[in-house]
Amino acid sequence: MSAPFEIREYGDPVLRTRCREITNIDAAIAKLSADMIDTMYSARGVGLAAPQIGVRSRIFVYDEGNGPKTMINPVIEESSGTWEFEEGCLSVPKMYFTFVRPKSITFSGFDLDGNQHAFKATDYLARVLQHETDHLDGKLLLDRITSDDRKQALRTLRLREVH
Ligand code: ZN
Repeated sequence: MSAPFEIREYGDPVLRTRCREITNIDAAIAKLSADMIDTMYSARGVGLAAPQIGVRSRIFVYDEGNGPKTMINPVIEESSGTWEFEEGCLSVPKMYFTFVRPKSITFSGFDLDGNQHAFKATDYLARVLQHETDHLDGKLLLDRITSDDRKQALRTLRLREVH
């Protein structure tokens, strides 16, 4: 399997921008989606959002265990409950953080055929969808953890840059 894109890592400003809505779901978007899915599997990720490969568009791919899916212009309509879980990110490699996010969400987004899907997700799937939607708003899991954990994480990341 090829990996058409290099995954952008912490420190790259593209990870901090708010991505644009996709107005035309065309062949170029289908190709982008297919390449993102290849890249995600090559990196053994559960999800991959467009800014992680340098594209500022509101699209992500994921596979929480039921095959690859693409979400375009996703929206978290509602969220409820709390769930503590360990999370990692391909753009913050080899670092894992346990923190709380909402347990359940009502989510909507468009597929590659332009059909809108709205559904409820809980636990792991809700977690993945929230993580990837954050990427499209320029947010990283580092913004969600406690300030003590963040200080420690940023120290580790700075040390990595030096070497
Ligand atoms: Zn991520």
